[in-house]
Amino acid sequence: MTEPRQICTRCIMDTTDPDIVFDANGWCNHCTGWFARAEFYALSLEERTRRLGVLVEEIKRRGHGKDYDCIIGVSGGVDSSFVAIKVKELGLRPLAVHVDNGWNSEKAVGNIKRILDPLHIDLSTVVLNWKEFRELQLAFLRASTPDSEIPSDHAIVASFYGASSRHRVAYCMNGINFRTEGIHVREWSQGHLDSRYIKSVYKEFTRKRLKHFPLIPVTTLVRNIVLHRPKNVFLLDYLDYDKQSTKRMLISDYGWEDYGGKHYESMYTRFYQGWILPHKFGYDKRRMHLSTLICSAQITRDEALKEISVPPYPPEWVEPDKIFVAKKLGISREEFDSIMAAPKKRYSDYPNLQNHWAFGRGLDLFRFLKHRLHWIS
Ligand SMILES: [Zn+2]
Repeated sequence: MTEPRQICTRCIMDTTDPDIVFDANGWCNHCTGWFARAEFYALSLEERTRRLGVLVEEIKRRGHGKDYDCIIGVSGGVDSSFVAIKVKELGLRPLAVHVDNGWNSEKAVGNIKRILDPLHIDLSTVVLNWKEFRELQLAFLRASTPDSEIPSDHAIVASFYGASSRHRVAYCMNGINFRTEGIHVREWSQGHLDSRYIKSVYKEFTRKRLKHFPLIPVTTLVRNIVLHRPKNVFLLDYLDYDKQSTKRMLISDYGWEDYGGKHYESMYTRFYQGWILPHKFGYDKRRMHLSTLICSAQITRDEALKEISVPPYPPEWVEPDKIFVAKKLGISREEFDSIMAAPKKRYSDYPNLQNHWAFGRGLDLFRFLKHRLHWIS
């Protein structure tokens, strides 16, 4: 017998997150955690602006004499386009990094150019080996975990690490926004930095080893985490960022073209988050996003409930997009359907860094020491 579904009484997170916990008020750990971490956001705009000014001076000082003083990631989306404009306004000298995984819409490529060219920002594009990346994406679909976007995310971070090391840049200006993306469900996607997980899934379903994919070596990962290299700056949290007015500004001032939805600059991300995740796993990522908007008082809970009641993907798009994705991945429509029907698996069902005996113990020790040191100080 399945447990009855429970939904938070403050946000709209529910028991589709298997690890969710509710308190006596019926409030969940996600919104409670959001408010606990919202201290910085509660600071006045003047104070955040002052702190940003101090940080920008530090970034300029450390970047003096180098080709660039910070890295920015660009996807052609609203947030990363705004970060590019803002860092130039702040007088920084960014290098833009873009990962081409073979799924970007032409509009995205055009939008990147429309923003970067007039700002005179250099662009470094990392083009993934399509044949191998296609096999890797297919392996992740066959693995039946909800982590099929992990290879793309891993390649982006690996490219930041590579650019930061090549140009000796200490800072990465990030477009992730606590006000709109501050809630994350681990079970819905994990292993972003886990090279062992990616290698093991690829090997299990192809019987081959990855040759071209930009994996982050464990030694690099540990070194960069311990040394905070490069330092991530969540730029949008320092500002009163408003996505809708930013979008209007991008269109009027830069000729930027609208995609019509979040993550629609990549066809695979759109289909994966909009159809595969809800259909196969029952995970609707809009729930995290809308819950964060409730916490930051940008919408009411009733408005969010109304929005989540609309199907996550337009029903008339499902069939043509399914055929397109199957064809691009090099499988038949029938094989795609059988992958969708395969039993669900979890991150922990595959060899990964967390369940590697030495790394896992090292991680436990690191967490313990971090906790103790924090407690002592
Ligand atoms: Zn909640």
